[in-house]
Amino acid sequence: MSNSKKFYINGAWVEPEKGARDYDVIHPGNEEVVDTIALGTKADVDKAVIAAANAFEIWGYTDVETRAKLLERMIELYKERSDQFAHAMSIEMGTSLTFSKEAQAPCGDGHLEATLEALRAHRFERPSMRGGSMLIDEPVGVCGLITPWNWPINQVIVKVAPALAAGCTMILKPSEESPLSAIMLAELIHEAGCPAGVFNMVNGDGLGVGEAISTHPDIHMVSFTGSTRAGVAISKAAADTVKRVALELGGKSPNLIFADADLDNAAECAIADCFINAGQSCDAPSRLLVEESIYDTMVDKVEKVVNAIKIGNPMEEGDHMGPVVNKRQYDNIQRLIQIGIDEGARLVCGGTGLPEGFNKGCYIRPTVFADVNNEMQIAREEVFGPVIAIIPFKDEDDAIKIANDTIYGLSAFMHSTDEARIKRVTKRLRAGSVNINGAAADYDVPFGGYKASGNGKENGPFGMHDYLDTKAVNR
Ligand code: NAD
Repeated sequence: MSNSKKFYINGAWVEPEKGARDYDVIHPGNEEVVDTIALGTKADVDKAVIAAANAFEIWGYTDVETRAKLLERMIELYKERSDQFAHAMSIEMGTSLTFSKEAQAPCGDGHLEATLEALRAHRFERPSMRGGSMLIDEPVGVCGLITPWNWPINQVIVKVAPALAAGCTMILKPSEESPLSAIMLAELIHEAGCPAGVFNMVNGDGLGVGEAISTHPDIHMVSFTGSTRAGVAISKAAADTVKRVALELGGKSPNLIFADADLDNAAECAIADCFINAGQSCDAPSRLLVEESIYDTMVDKVEKVVNAIKIGNPMEEGDHMGPVVNKRQYDNIQRLIQIGIDEGARLVCGGTGLPEGFNKGCYIRPTVFADVNNEMQIAREEVFGPVIAIIPFKDEDDAIKIANDTIYGLSAFMHSTDEARIKRVTKRLRAGSVNINGAAADYDVPFGGYKASGNGKENGPFGMHDYLDTKAVNR
């Protein structure tokens, strides 16, 4: 891409400051270099922050209609280019082209539209509860947005869109593993007529650009999505300058299958939900909790579903699963599969090594472990690949206890036909969302975790709320 080695600062594509390094973007399907980006430094961040701070003086005081018009134009342009975004994501992180078109890319316009609706519906000025004062919602200021590679456009847009809608200005640092779709988005934002300095993008790694963002005295808020490890580091780094920090972190979601569930549907959904995006989703239900009375039946059904998964070239259309994002993730997944075997979990299918017919690429054998207990590493650690751990439970209380016995609390899943049980169990699950019988959330529904899965919420009105401060006017 012509702008691969440049950064978007103050409305223009600019060369990096001194000290930037090259970083190869590698296609995980064939492990070949497809592009090279520049990893920036603190000096690039400083430049972007000056641009964002200047732009805030105008953008921070614009009316709703001005910001809505920008979002509208972004939606139009995004819809025109949706397939190009899909293609870029298949190249940079390896999801199959059909999946990128049908699942990854639509998150872009979906979240833009939900943010636009939230912006138009929001009451920026309103009386206080007892009516004595006025409350005015105002943008937080200059924001640093740091995103991961796994749902590249989704993660970027759920931050950029609400920040723009709220009236914030921003510096985006997308993941260095998935920079191509982010560069395309920066080009689109420019074409949509975003005023100079409102949106800036600096590519870089965590320790370089990421840390420069989280420690910068003139950045007022950091919104981060990624690993719990990095989220903790960012929170500490941001503390000295008292930034608002929003965190969307990892997960180890449980999926509770009760004996009264539709078992065929439960097995299909369990694997679809966990192995979507080659298992690289923060909310992947990677712990499958199954009631003892149906345990053997479910293990058989899950094995059949997994054995039917096809693996293939991500640059081809089809319903196959592509590779995982890179060699580092591949090696980590291999390590965890081996740990599962060594811990004594029963390998039902899959295992270490490349799938049959592959001699290169970051392809993983879809793997099912049964007879897992919740103390095993395979049940505690995020695998971030197509690997599921099946754990038996005795009764409802036991299922809830196992489900909540994790440092995480991003999502939980459940299959049951008993309405009273669904209500009871939903209340007791310590997670930011509960998905019942395979249902999925719309774009306006809040997404965010409890416990070590983070704080803050993204999507629609809840996402915009994170970028607003409330001023009390007492007179
Ligand atoms: P990561 O934490 O390694 O990197 C995420 C981003 O943070 C990247 O842009 C990276 O460059 C940057 N970064 C890394 N260390 C940093 C530091 N010390 N300071 C500042 N920035 C830093 O995560 P990843 O491997 O890109 O993504 C996978 C992780 O993201 C998984 O743990 C997954 O669960 C999580 N995730 C969470 C959500 C959610 O909404 N809760 C969504 C997607 C992914």
